[in-house]
Amino acid sequence: MNILQTDIQYIPGVGPKRAEILQKEIEVFTLGDLLRWYPYRYIDRTRMYFVSEIDQSQAYIQLKGKITAFEIFGEGHKRRLVAHFTDGTGVVELVWFQGIRYIENKYKINQEYIVFGKPNLFNGRWNIPHPEIDPFMDESDRPEGLMAMYNTTEKMKSHYLNSGAMRKIIGNAFGMIKERLPESLSADVVQEAKLMPFHDAVENIHFPKSPALLRDARFRLKFEELFYLQLSIVRYASDRKEKLKGLLFPKVGRHLNTFYKKKLPFPLTHAQKRVIKEIRRDTATGRQMNRLLQGDVGSGKTLVAIMCMLIALDNGFQSCLMAPTEILAAQHFATFSQMLSGMEVKVALLTGSTRKKEREVIHAALLSGEIDILIGTHALIEDIVQFRNLGFVVIDEQHRFGVVQRAKLWEKSSQPPHVLVMTATPIPRTLAMTVYGDLDVSVIDELPPGRKPVRTVHRYDAKRGALYQFIREQIHAGRQAYFVYPLIEESEKLDLKNLEEGYEHIKTAFPEFTVCKLHGRMKQAEKDEVMRQFVSGKAQIMVSTTVIEVGVDVPNASVMVIESAQRFGLSQLHQLRGRVGRGADQAWCVLITPYELSADTRKRIEIMTETNDGFVIAEADLKLRGPGDLEGTQQSGIPFNLHIADLVRDNAILFRAREIAEGVIARDPGLEQPEHLVLKQQLSRLSGNRYDWSRIS
Ligand code: ADP
Ligand code: MG
Repeated sequence: MNILQTDIQYIPGVGPKRAEILQKEIEVFTLGDLLRWYPYRYIDRTRMYFVSEIDQSQAYIQLKGKITAFEIFGEGHKRRLVAHFTDGTGVVELVWFQGIRYIENKYKINQEYIVFGKPNLFNGRWNIPHPEIDPFMDESDRPEGLMAMYNTTEKMKSHYLNSGAMRKIIGNAFGMIKERLPESLSADVVQEAKLMPFHDAVENIHFPKSPALLRDARFRLKFEELFYLQLSIVRYASDRKEKLKGLLFPKVGRHLNTFYKKKLPFPLTHAQKRVIKEIRRDTATGRQMNRLLQGDVGSGKTLVAIMCMLIALDNGFQSCLMAPTEILAAQHFATFSQMLSGMEVKVALLTGSTRKKEREVIHAALLSGEIDILIGTHALIEDIVQFRNLGFVVIDEQHRFGVVQRAKLWEKSSQPPHVLVMTATPIPRTLAMTVYGDLDVSVIDELPPGRKPVRTVHRYDAKRGALYQFIREQIHAGRQAYFVYPLIEESEKLDLKNLEEGYEHIKTAFPEFTVCKLHGRMKQAEKDEVMRQFVSGKAQIMVSTTVIEVGVDVPNASVMVIESAQRFGLSQLHQLRGRVGRGADQAWCVLITPYELSADTRKRIEIMTETNDGFVIAEADLKLRGPGDLEGTQQSGIPFNLHIADLVRDNAILFRAREIAEGVIARDPGLEQPEHLVLKQQLSRLSGNRYDWSRIS
């Protein structure tokens, strides 16, 4: 049997009780799992301190001295054991709240110990709670150099499984290992990536012999994680290319031609042309397209969608477009209807608030093939919605849709339709290729000509006079303005302006104008009415929540005021800003905050005022928040958890891993060669029996 499969209860210092805790708390079942419980940081233990040196500057401290006395204070759960510890330069108290009897018996008075822990100032005196204590030994024998620190949970701590105990148990595990651990990557990969052997890497990650060896160990283990992640994606993608037949759209016919020659109101940008070409190429090859279209707000993604749908129609297929909100679906419907007016293309709208009668008519017309293009919200994915021959699916602002919802769209057709996912939230390439795996990515990196970049400024809450004057001038010049508030109800934070209050305030401040109000809890008919008021120019100011964040297009609006801007994330601010600057006039975005701001918030505001580039903003957002928070890229998108690698920070390793994984699959697509057996085994170990996420990304 492989030593790595040893049940942890047989590791000295564990036993059945602690084994159960380790299983429940951190999913460590075997010796192999335990070795992959990597330290989260290292502490330099080369340095010995004196008690007299203790001050605020040390997070951890190592002392050499003797315990002079034990004392017990308090009753019941407040009981604590205090040991007076001295090295001749001063006295420090060692304190325990648990395991008192055990500690008292274990450590002897007047014997030399090495004490290690976090100094803590309490009532003017230094103490070290729950320190690690080792008998003082020869210089040569002492733990020294870099010492690993481990994450543990409260439950683990209450069973004496703190960082020090974990280190000891892992040390004991190494004691059981008589032979070198088997390699967890194939020899060709180890060689190509110039990796430290698995055995040495695991040993050095827990007990680093030198900073250089620790660095190599980390590289090796990070590489391994990212390599398997990429291998699973690359292997799957190559698999699918062989298996999945795509619908063929070989023709360009009268619909696209008519639109291009007679209806297109402006020339396409180069970027739009390029993307349409890429999509045409995909749909003409017989493989199923799965493409992510990234383009900053206002870059003209909708037009690309329309033209692709016309290509589908020319080849006899229906299309659908799924939008995240009713407002946006209705707006797309209006755009499509207007752009395609006078052409023989039947477009329909289906949302949650479509009446039952109308719904039934639409369902029937979809089945008969009478409807060519269906636009809608989630209502679109209900089972009852069936097409005659769905060939092309567009998903707008993809981050609002979960993986499962996308899967449902696939099932609407015996042969999967081509899928185009459009997003204005740029996803850095590393994440895109990890989370979306085999999605091909197209980018519109060019705005239509004549757009002036939005100018963004920061203003303090208390100074609004000049701002209001400015807005007044803009409106007198024929423009319109948005005021956006972060919440609907004044609930959590008292200092937060809520929408109602804001609405009243704005109405009073601008008595000469019509102010309208929009939020997510309004009925659909009310929302539509408000939008109509604003689009037609009857209302000059719209006060709203973030419901307008995605996709709303009113080219005449030139001012976007974001209230309590400190409450919004970077991507959200960027999305909101994208609502203005859609016409030819200079547009403005005003970020309003209180005087007091955290450093992070200042940074966000600064980035917003400095750049309009969505990619720069996405990267900055990722750095400030970490990838876990990025919408649509939660860990759930990844086939297995990462223990040591970081998708953002370990960017360079990720690319290298991808390259090498691609090489392996190119040489041996099925991983059939004997030397690749280990890759196959590791992959199935890692993936477990999780949902087949990749099919539907
Ligand atoms: P987004 O990429 O944010 O979805 P839209 O598709 O809504 O952008 O386009 C934004 C605006 O730009 C729309 O009013 C659209 O009509 C206009 N537009 C799109 N393509 C062009 C172009 N090539 N030239 C000029 N205007 C364009
Ligand atoms: Mg859009």
